[in-house]
Amino acid sequence: MREIVLSTRNKHKIKEICQILEDTKIKIVSLNNFKRLPRIIEDGKTLKENAVKKAVIIAKRLEKWTLADDSGLEVDHLDGEPGVYSARWAGKDCSYCDNNRKLLKLLRDVPKNKRKADFKCVIALSNPKGKTWTVEGKIKGYIAKKTKGINGFGYDPLFVVPRYKKTFAELSSVIKNRISHRAKALKKTVKLVNKLIVN
Ligand code: IMP
Repeated sequence: MREIVLSTRNKHKIKEICQILEDTKIKIVSLNNFKRLPRIIEDGKTLKENAVKKAVIIAKRLEKWTLADDSGLEVDHLDGEPGVYSARWAGKDCSYCDNNRKLLKLLRDVPKNKRKADFKCVIALSNPKGKTWTVEGKIKGYIAKKTKGINGFGYDPLFVVPRYKKTFAELSSVIKNRISHRAKALKKTVKLVNKLIVN
């Protein structure tokens, strides 16, 4: 097994990433397993900048191979917002619910054909010295007119996957973790890890 640190404490991300990597040779250890780590401010202008920052700071500090995920929802009608600001879009300390309410409000009366959105995930992999590699995954969909489903997290109750005509929150974790932005980025990450890390 190849042990790699996952630079997050987000329990939803940890769960999804562990599930997606279940049948691989990668063993994930999250930040919850370490003490006295610096708090990382996600102030990058892009998902890539944030992912690289989160991976490098932890990799150098722990002197371990580390990966970090930065994801965001890009809504066409809102010129790509919330994008890199997806987490705290409705304000400091806002909840997933607050963000979803804001999204529904901004898209009120917008017809279905103008509700297109992409979910994007950038994964950065850093070696213990801070050299990084990045990969991306994307899924196209649209924003529902009301929240549906109880699975997942974040914008999942509003993001409809056209192939299933269901939101991510209505799909099982098995299906979401097969088709999502994160699943696609992690598939590329596994290839990268197999190429780079020999142990
Ligand atoms: P970050 O990648 O930690 O900056 O988080 C970005 C924000 O995007 C999260 O707080 C969630 O609101 C949202 N997000 C990221 N990935 C997903 C997903 O797979 N489903 C739904 N929302 C997500």
